[in-house]
Amino acid sequence: MYRTHTCGELRLADKGAKTTLAGWVQTVRKFGAITFVDLRDRYGITQLLFGEELNKQLEENPPGREFVLQAAGTVNERSNKNPNIPTGDIEILVSSFTILSKSSVPPFTIQDDTDGGDDLRMKYRYLDLRRNEVKKNLELRYAVNRAARSYLHGQNFIEVETPYLIKSTPEGARDFVVPSRMNPGQFYALPQSPQTFKQLLMISGYDRYYQIVKCFRDEDLRADRQPEFTQIDCEMAFVEQEDVLNMFEGMVKHIFKEVKGIEYNEAVPRMTWEDAMWNYGNDKPDIRFDMKVTNLVFSKQMFPNKSTVLPEEMFAIPPWGGGGAEAVLAIAVPGCADYTRKQTDELTEWVKRPQIGMKGLVFIKCNTGGSYKSSVDKFYSEDKLKTIAEAAGTKAGDLVLILAGPEERTRKAISELRLEMAERLDLRKKDEFKPVWVLDFPLFEYDEEGNRWVARHHPFTAPKPSQIETMISNNPAIENTAEYVKHPYANIKANAYDMVLNGNEIGGGSIRIYQRELQEKMFAALGMDKEEQQHKFGFLLGAFEYGAPPHGGIAFGFDRLCAILGGSESIRDFIAFPKNNAVRDMMLDAPSTIDEKQLEELQIKLDLRG
Ligand code: ASP
Repeated sequence: MYRTHTCGELRLADKGAKTTLAGWVQTVRKFGAITFVDLRDRYGITQLLFGEELNKQLEENPPGREFVLQAAGTVNERSNKNPNIPTGDIEILVSSFTILSKSSVPPFTIQDDTDGGDDLRMKYRYLDLRRNEVKKNLELRYAVNRAARSYLHGQNFIEVETPYLIKSTPEGARDFVVPSRMNPGQFYALPQSPQTFKQLLMISGYDRYYQIVKCFRDEDLRADRQPEFTQIDCEMAFVEQEDVLNMFEGMVKHIFKEVKGIEYNEAVPRMTWEDAMWNYGNDKPDIRFDMKVTNLVFSKQMFPNKSTVLPEEMFAIPPWGGGGAEAVLAIAVPGCADYTRKQTDELTEWVKRPQIGMKGLVFIKCNTGGSYKSSVDKFYSEDKLKTIAEAAGTKAGDLVLILAGPEERTRKAISELRLEMAERLDLRKKDEFKPVWVLDFPLFEYDEEGNRWVARHHPFTAPKPSQIETMISNNPAIENTAEYVKHPYANIKANAYDMVLNGNEIGGGSIRIYQRELQEKMFAALGMDKEEQQHKFGFLLGAFEYGAPPHGGIAFGFDRLCAILGGSESIRDFIAFPKNNAVRDMMLDAPSTIDEKQLEELQIKLDLRG
């Protein structure tokens, strides 16, 4: 037997007990004739005490950092106790030891506060995984996994595995492809999600399916994305949107409770996509804090039913681009009226960064004494500043920040600025969890480059029943590209929903189309002719002819959910073996070239263009 206990197990109550431990050497400290070794395993750290009688043996076989050591001895009360670790009251008086495995000097010290930097961590990920921080993350991931499974199992869901070598599934990204040796010149695609399979399973009668499953998307590099990631993928038959929302907010509440001990008993709030864009500037609002956007000027095309809070003419002078700005949007930042010149200058630079892309920033300070100071004093009387500030819902002491420019960019920028200010004011608390459903997304998005409609979610999403007619009876062609927002398609809403948690989309899904005819219309609206439809989705269209039940589902981003619950920004920290920002596995040094022989078998000749 290699060990009788783990390194996290023994306590003062075990005093006098015989024990054998095995683990990794964290530190070796020599004090005169005696030597202390901290021995670590997955469960904790226990101090070993080697007395004088073992000196000779230690000299012949000195254990170093990260050696794998087995030590037998007796549990002893420590004279110098360590209250910071659970085993801190005891130590093991070692009677014999064996070095089971030696270690080279590790490239970084395996301690909580030394991680050696990103590149080294990734290259030696197996060592990084020994660190407490990373271990805690993987444990949390497993807890989320267990909680999701137990909930879904309790609700009669069945986990079914679907294949990884498939034909393309459109989820808006590029496919990873795998050449087939047996079918030269032909390729499989790795699934961007099991979308079509889970729909087929509904047709097969498995009315509640889930799968914790890998998905693969060859996306352009964006911070904190992984080319392979994990979803909690779910589908249900005989459901309407309401059923799906209830089922899965139940799951999220169960996870909160099991993993974080949080009782979240109220209903998850709901918000339409339009309201999210209107009040927060984006469709994944962080509702842990308020600071809503005030729409001083905006396009009536995007929000035909809203009216301005102030007359638009008020903004028809510089610095709003002489009235040319499509959108003028404001937020009121609580308690920041005392910002110095330096601070407002720095914020101005911040909004001008290419990622934000604004030309400038206008501010109004609502001083506690009742006066108003602004960067546009030249153009506005104090009275007018007051009117604008009040329209933005300010209190004394607030700082109004105003951005102006093209509508889409300005909305995005104000939402980023809102998050940034909340970050600075410490309003984005890591231990607070505020989910919200965002509903009624547009069915289509306009792709300017291709001058065509693309599915905002994916092409299997059903339109709102009341708008099916609009979709069927209108020609998708866009005559005047500049005016695409006026096309009836721009206003068709989908039966789709996202769950947003603390400003991150953690889940998204929809009620699906289940009639062949409507699905064909949808493909056609996306510019797919009959032949292409048949080539790509013949199997699904065919299946719709054999009794397809109404169905819908959702998929949760498992890595992201874990990261948020773990209070981290980075999904990488919650994946055992992630890729780096250049989509490389630093440890394996992958991707890599393959042998000439492998290429030959695949009958592939490389021609690397450019
Ligand atoms: N397959 C979708 C996705 O990966 C989720 C869904 O519609 O259920 O985003």
